[in-house]
Amino acid sequence: MPGEAGVAGWEVLRDAVLVQVPTAWLASVPPGALDGLVLAGPSPIADLHRRRLAGDRVLLVDRERYRRVEATAEAPFSHGADRLARYARLDSGTPPGSVDGDADADTDTNAVTGASAGADAGPPSLDTADPLDLDLAAQAHASAVLTPTGLIAAGDVETLRAALDAFERRRDERSVLTLPLGAGWLRPEWRPMLIKLLITAEGPKALALQESGDPFGRARSVPLLADLARTVPDLGIIRTDLAGVGAVALGAAFTAIGLTANHRHIPSPGGPPRATGRLEEPGVPVLVPAFLSFHGGRRLAVRLDPDSEAARCPCYACRPGLPLTRFVGAEAGQATAHNLAVLEMLVEELAMRPVGGARIRWWLGRCAEAYAQLQEFNGGEVSGRRLEEPAQLRQWAELRPV
Ligand SMILES: [Zn+2]
Repeated sequence: MPGEAGVAGWEVLRDAVLVQVPTAWLASVPPGALDGLVLAGPSPIADLHRRRLAGDRVLLVDRERYRRVEATAEAPFSHGADRLARYARLDSGTPPGSVDGDADADTDTNAVTGASAGADAGPPSLDTADPLDLDLAAQAHASAVLTPTGLIAAGDVETLRAALDAFERRRDERSVLTLPLGAGWLRPEWRPMLIKLLITAEGPKALALQESGDPFGRARSVPLLADLARTVPDLGIIRTDLAGVGAVALGAAFTAIGLTANHRHIPSPGGPPRATGRLEEPGVPVLVPAFLSFHGGRRLAVRLDPDSEAARCPCYACRPGLPLTRFVGAEAGQATAHNLAVLEMLVEELAMRPVGGARIRWWLGRCAEAYAQLQEFNGGEVSGRRLEEPAQLRQWAELRPV
């Protein structure tokens, strides 16, 4: 019985495509969606119990400490209390509440972990009991738990190395090392060091990138992701978008695709405001299968012909023949079900192919086709009706199998 099995260990993650979902959105994800869940939020134990019983296969806990605390070489992990988050904010000069709207205060975390929350608790330390949150994994009957790593600033090689070393010393089969990398780690000057450190690091690692938009929209970042997926053992990419499917196709161990835009990367504290309540916003993100990319629901409503081939979607949420131009107004909330259903289709296509060349050719061919279709669509449209051509998709389309 999954509910009584306790922790399964991280090996169940192999080849898994998970959905990363904040606690507040859990009801939007039906049990059994994709290969399982990464539940992102401060106190997920009761939710995880419920999902286990409902039939989710793989459950991973991510307390998202990296959204509140910056890692240091002395303290790469922060499993501490809310006051530690305030401590970190004071240190960094970042005002509380600026991280973003759905980063709930984790006031009840101490009760969950038994973390050192006394009045004298100082900054997080490797000497603290249960630094990897393994108690949390056991109590929650999670498959594994992501380490409470703080955000590792771009170029902070010392802290990255400290996190890798600390994990290697203490890890067990239930833990996965979270590597939340600050914006800028993908810059050319840091890439060689990043690959060098990761390639020799033992144990499962879950990479997440901070960016105000798509981290893999940066120039030449998809080839870097492809290199990492091919060469770094036991590497997962979490908090991502379709880049995660591509990474697994190219050899990554697992991925977690964010249900909301904020969970498809680590939001930058100084990033753009969230897309709510502003008339000029593009609308809810809608995954367009023909273009293999997300586009705003309001934009699709005015720029896509509902009778066109691109507006037709074969997913079960769009049967019978509902167009992708419908996700506006009261219908906007249905976009999540459609997005998940399209991801399910992609994951099925991926799983049908054996690991190796067939998968790589499938993914790169899929991306090339999607990019060509998007360019063709835009080629026939006046500039005001064109859809964005995502830099990530173009890079996948241009990537050549090695
Ligand atoms: Zn659909």
